[in-house]
Amino acid sequence: MIMQPSVPIVMTLAGSDPTGGAGIQADIESILSMGGHAAPVITAVTVQDTRDVVALAPMDGELIIQQARTVLEDMPVAALKVGLLGSMEAVEALHALLNDYPELPLVLDPVLAAGGGAALADEEMVDGILQLLVPRTTVLTPNTLEARALARGSDTLDACAMALLDQGAEYVFITGTHERTSEVHNTLYGNHRRLEVFPVPRLEGEFHGSGCTLSAAIAALLAQGTAVPVAVHEAVSYTWHSLQAGRRLGMGQKLPNRL
Ligand code: PLP
Repeated sequence: MIMQPSVPIVMTLAGSDPTGGAGIQADIESILSMGGHAAPVITAVTVQDTRDVVALAPMDGELIIQQARTVLEDMPVAALKVGLLGSMEAVEALHALLNDYPELPLVLDPVLAAGGGAALADEEMVDGILQLLVPRTTVLTPNTLEARALARGSDTLDACAMALLDQGAEYVFITGTHERTSEVHNTLYGNHRRLEVFPVPRLEGEFHGSGCTLSAAIAALLAQGTAVPVAVHEAVSYTWHSLQAGRRLGMGQKLPNRL
């Protein structure tokens, strides 16, 4: 007899961040806050402070998949969240894993650069994410820089989103903090059109781990059966409040206060 879990289980495949602001710790805190249980799979180890990432050591692709597969065969994971992958090998390994779990909702945060500017993906990985992972994605959560990098050659953000939907993502949610607007415009696309804009007041300062917080919260809500537009709405509100309560604990960016 298969026991129904009392708590929705979310697997996050992401990198470590020793500041505790982004990456796997951000995901765990966000998933717990949304009432889920986090199953963390490490894809890469980073060396960083609150200013920038200074080194990245990707895990062996096979080891990433073994970590994930062992838990997926044991626990009834209800949703996946993918953040930093760190290597083309990891992109390919994840693609192979996803083929074996076609029904699992996937929130993909295409982490291409650190908040401080360090590149976390090369051109080959950008192509790999686009060709191998985007077609399998339930909700893709790029910021505007990542949306433009993935949808090369698209003039506007709307055109970028359409290109990513055409590539096979079910929903694309573009976050707008990097734009020079007084309010932050976060926009959800699906079904070949713009569905909804979720504006939030712009907060003072630079933050570390906002994308991780948001995407993990969406995954935790999808794991509970929440519809995507509702999940996005709740996750934006949760993330904004975590940032508003954020603290400058080091010498660089502020860290969200998620709990
Ligand atoms: N994951 C890891 C391990 C990171 O180090 C970073 C940024 O430095 C990110 C994800 C992305 O962070 P953010 O949520 O600020 O986009």
